[in-house]
Amino acid sequence: MDKTIGIFGGGQLGRMMAQAALPLNIQCTFFEATADCPAAALGQVFSSEAEHALHDFIQSADVFSLEFENTPLSDVDVLQKSKSIYPPRQALAIAQNRLLEKALFDELAIPVAPYKAVDSIESLKIAVAELGLPIVLKTATGGYDGKGQFVLRSEDQITQAWAELGTAQSLIAESFVTFSREVSIIAVRGQNGDVKTWPLAENHHHHGILSHSIVPAPKSTDLQPVAQEYITRLLNHLNYVGVLTLELFVTKQGLYANEMAPRVHNSGHWSIEGAVCSQFENHIRAVAGLPLGSTEVIRPTVLVNIIGQYPKSEDVLALNGAHLHLYNKTEREGRKIGHITLMPNDSHELTNLCRKLAKILPNPLALSEDMNI
Ligand code: AMP
Repeated sequence: MDKTIGIFGGGQLGRMMAQAALPLNIQCTFFEATADCPAAALGQVFSSEAEHALHDFIQSADVFSLEFENTPLSDVDVLQKSKSIYPPRQALAIAQNRLLEKALFDELAIPVAPYKAVDSIESLKIAVAELGLPIVLKTATGGYDGKGQFVLRSEDQITQAWAELGTAQSLIAESFVTFSREVSIIAVRGQNGDVKTWPLAENHHHHGILSHSIVPAPKSTDLQPVAQEYITRLLNHLNYVGVLTLELFVTKQGLYANEMAPRVHNSGHWSIEGAVCSQFENHIRAVAGLPLGSTEVIRPTVLVNIIGQYPKSEDVLALNGAHLHLYNKTEREGRKIGHITLMPNDSHELTNLCRKLAKILPNPLALSEDMNI
């Protein structure tokens, strides 16, 4: 092997990074609580629970990255005494705190919904008065997939919202954005400052969890350059290396940034088959200091998540142009355990494939009316 990359986290994102690294003669090791994690099939796992685990993990690789955005900053600090990590610590610190994230978006003139920091019931009342209702109240740290959130529609709910979320140390109140669609842009920056961007994905959720993404997002020709400009500002400002994701709302007033993820992203899984170079391979290339690959789309693609329960593999693979990715995770309600990539020839075939898939999948597939690609 030419190089070893140590990855904080050992979930499906780490598994797919290691799959992309192997043809480049790059080995991955992982730092994860449980040894039987999805990435274990592809590299050594250092159990974060074990004594001296962090030290042993740091010894195991030449350079480091992460697939888990809540990687403790204290672990990164220990690592940085002797080794490098990409993306940079600052990007991780900002992405772990919604207030820091929104402040950075403001600084870089990336539009966001009006927001206020909240740390007491009094400051929540002030936020409601200043922002108006409805507002979305979120924990500043630790939330994911819509968890740690409360949508406040009337002043009567202030006490309840505070009772549910107020134990968190710090909250953010955001004006409720009336959006027509949710999209994400994924980009990669190399160690030499090269930036490459994949096309926008249109993301559809079911109970707060990504159900499917359509790429390129339909009717996004005008949005693409704007989103690209925003993410490039972030990448260059942070002197970022690796893959970064920016989630955005499409509104009548244009794009509003919601949050960023300092890592490869679920809405980019389509790129394994749908792009010349996938988000996983380009992330590995960037971390290893190699030239970046083309992010061009080979074919419009739909990514469908398998959530909670596995379908029969033979049913999925019988669909023309379907690729199946299973993460070797146990079934659990609401858990992402695999995904399917569909590469239809046209909108007609896409609608047909999605209808067939909806019958095969145990989890409901939130299909939209307009699946035009
Ligand atoms: P987040 O954890 O910030 O990604 O939020 C989860 C979901 O909640 C998003 O995908 C949106 O559907 C919704 N959401 C979050 N923030 C807002 C907002 N300010 N206005 C309207 N909907 C929101």
